[in-house]
Amino acid sequence: MIIVMKAKAKKEELEEVVKKIEKLGYKPHIIQGVERSVIGAVGDERGKAKLQSLEVLPGVDKVVPILKPYKLASRDIKPEGTVVSIDGRVEIGGNKIVVIAGPCSVESEEQIIESAHIVKKAGADILRGGAFKPRTSPYSFQGLEKKGLILLAKAKEKVGLPVVTEIINPKDVDLVAEYSDIMQVGARNVQNFALLKKLGKHNKPILLKRGMSTTVEEFLMSAEYILSEGNKDVILCERGIRTFETATRNTLDLSCIPVLKERTHLPIIVDPSHATGFWSYVAPMSYAAIAAGADGLMIEVHPNPEDAESDGIQSLKPHKFAALMENLKAYIAAAGRV
Ligand code: PEP
Ligand code: MN
Repeated sequence: MIIVMKAKAKKEELEEVVKKIEKLGYKPHIIQGVERSVIGAVGDERGKAKLQSLEVLPGVDKVVPILKPYKLASRDIKPEGTVVSIDGRVEIGGNKIVVIAGPCSVESEEQIIESAHIVKKAGADILRGGAFKPRTSPYSFQGLEKKGLILLAKAKEKVGLPVVTEIINPKDVDLVAEYSDIMQVGARNVQNFALLKKLGKHNKPILLKRGMSTTVEEFLMSAEYILSEGNKDVILCERGIRTFETATRNTLDLSCIPVLKERTHLPIIVDPSHATGFWSYVAPMSYAAIAAGADGLMIEVHPNPEDAESDGIQSLKPHKFAALMENLKAYIAAAGRV
């Protein structure tokens, strides 16, 4: 249920409603809107009639049910889009198109610092680099783990870009949080509910990737796991889904962007690298993502893709990335973004 407060509701009136919600056994989530506050009361669906009685309290405008299974992620509860602030320097979900770029994996100090310089020079806002790698084969490079996190943080310090890296195991949440500005949940962990719950208790922004067989509704339910624990900073990422098509690594589901924009207030970015699996398809799909309404992109870039430990075939060479960033400007302007 959503309790919509009157525009002029007093702070004490809101506090009273929060107390009543808790007394009825529900968890209140306050969402401060531009004009008014709304309170999401989340809990057992069966007892929701009891919440309806809150409508008589002073300061309450109305009590309305949220019919979708995801509540806090729903646009019903928060009509204006969420803007996630990264390290106080970059905002995702505002008018600006945010570009996250860097190698699939952190491989060495030299490689990650060089990558950071390359992507910053071309205009990227955030550096990516995996330290814990979820590989299909146990014989493939698994990442430098803690050493990789330290090198990524070093690159951040040296080049001055916020960083995002993947978290795989719930036991590593505090470690990864210490070295990163955004924690990424990869496609393979989108329904690792223990991990999502743990991340929900943190205050670091979370980049949640869609799973390869995850429906839009399941994707939003995964976001709900994080939001329901209290972490409001969730960024969704479409990275391709598995279809019958084999010409590309996955099929980029561009249509999920307007669908998600309609259903949720959370920002949405697109990863055309994992979606297509081949570097030459990355630029056209980046342009298409902006046209479809994405708030940003995540692109794999490597100083020498032929030597990459992982995903070299889909990684852009530095000059190709610089050209993409240049060409992107016209699409960004056409979409009315900056
Ligand atoms: C990645 O970003 O390096 C990655 C492993 O992506 P995904 O989880 O989308 O496969
Ligand atoms: Mn990768």
